[in-house]
Amino acid sequence: MSVTFFITGTPTHVVDTWECQCVDDGKAWPTCLHCMGTGKVEYEEPVWPSLNLANTNALNVLQAIGFAPEYDGVWEGETLDRAIEGCLRALNSESRRAVATREAYHIPGGHAGVRVVHEGNVARVERMGAEVFGCGYSDETVRARVGQILDICRKAKEEGEKVCWG
Ligand SMILES: [Zn+2]
Repeated sequence: MSVTFFITGTPTHVVDTWECQCVDDGKAWPTCLHCMGTGKVEYEEPVWPSLNLANTNALNVLQAIGFAPEYDGVWEGETLDRAIEGCLRALNSESRRAVATREAYHIPGGHAGVRVVHEGNVARVERMGAEVFGCGYSDETVRARVGQILDICRKAKEEGEKVCWG
């Protein structure tokens, strides 16, 4: 799952177009909900800046800029100003960004206990647990993401719009 930060009212542009799956023998299904009977599906992206983050990273970056870790929300007026201020503070303070960083880690397999397997008269002890790799989130990455959120907030303010995330 992920969280997208975007600006309300952004114009969009078509970045990809393809034939709808409903098209059969050159004809689109008239009541198709994907293409509305046109036979063409368009994928649009916002023209103004937006940012998509994995849930954990989004919640951590929100905390780094001084907000509660929530999966959705809106910044407008006073809260938009507070978000801009929070981004600037985080960009200027490694200790504020530190809440959003984490080290990469690796847990070798066999670290989740043991089980006894019986084979005839022989009892064998087996180790359990999968090998786990955890991705890190560096200070450099956090700084870049905060910078992107700042750009989004400034553009929203300039356009008289809101920033939403969810
Ligand atoms: Zn269709």
